[in-house]
Amino acid sequence: MIERELALAELPRVRDLLADPAGTLRARFEFARDERGRAVATVAIEAIARWRCERCGGAFERPLHSRSEVEFVADDRGEPADGDREPFAAPGGRVRLVDLAEEEFLLAAPLAPSCDEPERCARAPRPAPPSLAAAPATRRPFDGLRDLLQKTDRT
Ligand SMILES: [Zn+2]
Repeated sequence: MIERELALAELPRVRDLLADPAGTLRARFEFARDERGRAVATVAIEAIARWRCERCGGAFERPLHSRSEVEFVADDRGEPADGDREPFAAPGGRVRLVDLAEEEFLLAAPLAPSCDEPERCARAPRPAPPSLAAAPATRRPFDGLRDLLQKTDRT
């Protein structure tokens, strides 16, 4: 097993996601061959990151833990032989631990981080999705479905 401690600031794609890149990421890697001789690894990370809330824009701290089974493939188009594994392109059989750790962080990172602090978030104006904001208040949910069915009938 290999262990590494990396500064989040060293990981460019992670850095862009965060409110600020302070903090470290601890990563553990176990490399192995599966029963068919394919190169695989278990990648586990732990980090405490400072995220930017999607709703109120405030910065907040939250830990991130993640663990994946990775299978090394020849290039970006490669598919893992085992669907439960994450493909990771390792051209020429070479891989950088930093890249593996970064990928694992990105897989586990929330798409829309939210601070969940009622006090702070409730006061922030919530951006309503345009389709909902424009819909009349009396809109019935199945109207659209009926339109769709009629269109289907006519064809
Ligand atoms: Zn918030």
